[in-house]
Amino acid sequence: MDHLKSLIREVPDFPKPGINFFDITTLLKDQAGYRDVIDGLRETVAAVPCDVILGIEARGFMFAPTVAYAMGKGFVPVRKPGKLPHKTTQVQYALEYGHDTLEIHTDAVAPGQRVLIVDDVLATGGTAGAVAQLVEKLGGTVAGFAFVIELDFLNGRKKLDGYDVWSLLRY
Ligand code: AMP
Repeated sequence: MDHLKSLIREVPDFPKPGINFFDITTLLKDQAGYRDVIDGLRETVAAVPCDVILGIEARGFMFAPTVAYAMGKGFVPVRKPGKLPHKTTQVQYALEYGHDTLEIHTDAVAPGQRVLIVDDVLATGGTAGAVAQLVEKLGGTVAGFAFVIELDFLNGRKKLDGYDVWSLLRY
């Protein structure tokens, strides 16, 4: 899997000084690279019992729905405020750079459903932890988290203590 690292562009000081941004657009446009990353995620979680795959706006939408399709599962979006048209449940969270709010349709996860969360980057773990809260508020169970990239030095995994966490590429 580490060959995929050469397809990820690192952009220093984006979106603000001191942040080394992992740009996955260079991976997405590579035919073999995108296929390998989706196959890698699918194989990583193949044995994990789950009912639905959840993805987080915006970069999570570049991976999670494709993984859902590959696994023959449904897809649930978590979006920024004001985008989902029906009744929503919200959570506030801290980012590596700033703060934000996320929403899910209140009826998107049924009580007792097992939800596998797929995202691009595990940085501080703030986003992932917040999304776990959303799932649990609705009575769902987090089946685990699968990330393309994990930034070990930010210790995001610690914030997700008690959950299963998988990542394809670690930095
Ligand atoms: P965090 O809540 O800190 O784990 O950050 C989660 C989200 O922020 C990830 O899903 C990424 O989309 C984005 N993100 C945070 N840090 C970076 C980074 N250094 N490079 C690229 N994306 C990042």
